[in-house]
Amino acid sequence: MNQHFINGRYVAGQTGETLAKLDPATGEEFARIACGNAADIDTAVKAARAAFDGAWGKLTAAERGRLISKLALKVQDHFEELAKLEARDTGKPMSQARADMDATARYFEFYGGAADKVHGHVIPFLNGYHVSVIHEPHGVTGHILPWNYPAQMIGRSLTASLAMGNAVVLKPAEDACATAFRLAELASEVGFPDGAINIVAGRGHEAGAALSAHHGIGFMSFTGSPEVGKMVQHACAEHLIPCTLELGGKSPQIVFEDADIDALVPIACKAIVQNTGQTCSAGSRLLVQKSIYDDVLSEVAKQFSKLQAGTPEMDLDCGPVINAKQRGRVQSFIDQSREAGIPVIAQGQIAQGVPNGGFYVQPTLFGPVPRGNRLEQDEVFGPVLAAFSFEDEEDAIKAANGTDYGLVAAVWTKDGGRQQRVSKRVRAGQVFINGYGAGGGIELPFGGTGKSGHGREKGFIALEEFAVTKTIVHKHG
Ligand code: NAD
Repeated sequence: MNQHFINGRYVAGQTGETLAKLDPATGEEFARIACGNAADIDTAVKAARAAFDGAWGKLTAAERGRLISKLALKVQDHFEELAKLEARDTGKPMSQARADMDATARYFEFYGGAADKVHGHVIPFLNGYHVSVIHEPHGVTGHILPWNYPAQMIGRSLTASLAMGNAVVLKPAEDACATAFRLAELASEVGFPDGAINIVAGRGHEAGAALSAHHGIGFMSFTGSPEVGKMVQHACAEHLIPCTLELGGKSPQIVFEDADIDALVPIACKAIVQNTGQTCSAGSRLLVQKSIYDDVLSEVAKQFSKLQAGTPEMDLDCGPVINAKQRGRVQSFIDQSREAGIPVIAQGQIAQGVPNGGFYVQPTLFGPVPRGNRLEQDEVFGPVLAAFSFEDEEDAIKAANGTDYGLVAAVWTKDGGRQQRVSKRVRAGQVFINGYGAGGGIELPFGGTGKSGHGREKGFIALEEFAVTKTIVHKHG
């Protein structure tokens, strides 16, 4: 990890500088990562271009798909090793890390199978013409990813781009990049040509900024915070390339008085503690109809107070958060909300015996939270659930749409008409009815509106993002 992966091999960074990588469960250093700069990015982009113009670019779609599918099998072969690495790097409980590896393998299977199924089409036009529409790769695509689901992000972002025939350059997050490097090694083992996959580790404002500004890339896939997303989009605008931005969320679960509360309660708790709340699509707002608010919150509180945070090996409901800065940020949301007089309905526990230096926080449920409060407006990215009450359907939609985000939402009701009305009016890229989350949702288009970003990843639709559509008009007489 203290080197970059460029052109099929590990290479030292230009500066030799490295960054400490801490274990979130203990706070102790367990690795060092290379600190890439613009020169490293340039080397990686050139290697990717050479692969695109050479061995990688010459493969047929079926051959690319076969390589990606082989990588799925490699993930299965190295399943436990990869899950342990991911858990160590991010602090997540082992069962979550295993679920992530399942999803990662599924992405490789899905996009491996999809690679040769992106068909163009023929448009009936004037007599004497043949018009075809085809999808071509951008060339080299750039990928800047966060630390919360490092392996899954590779499956979702890099693999869709590779399936379309692009060569890729990844700048992973400085806080978790171990599985990215291991997956690149495994890709080489299954036969990916040198340069098809390149990774430059390092700081965002150095390596990340250099990648988004590089004139050798034709498309940028960014997942991260809205603040950095804006910078990346500005950089892409400078050289007029398209980008997808997968940003944060403040996703509501809307619970009407006819909802199945027994089904809701465990899901409401899981949706906020999964990955210790560090999930863009975390169900961080619980909106409950006033007539059942007290009853529902008392049931949620019972389960919420049993939640526990521990080490990956303890395999409890959640782990530590990623680093000390993130712990400070989450804790300050909790402390400031308490000081502002917002009632704490329930708190989970930090398990006994966790190492003192780890970055643990207590899962916390607040409510009722006044509308307009920062617990409604700001993404905490930690295990903090904010409960609100609403009067009726109109008020529920107003509350649900009352933030700048628009990533995911859930509607809990038995009324079929209401399920449809609310799903259509709520501002979100994905809406669940009587459930929440889809275990990765590999096949399902995913992405946001507003402050949650734009563009879609996952599913077949992502392949279109990673391609340029070309219309060929042939006047044959
Ligand atoms: P971040 O924006 O700080 O970092 C994301 C990536 O951007 C990292 O690799 C970082 O090094 C890089 N970066 C930082 N500054 C940069 C710059 N100036 N130029 C280019 N790259 C730069 O986000 P984070 O703290 O790593 O992740 C948390 C955020 O990501 C949350 O807001 C979360 O909701 C969001 N997220 C969204 C999704 C989604 O699919 N919508 C998924 C996961 C995380």
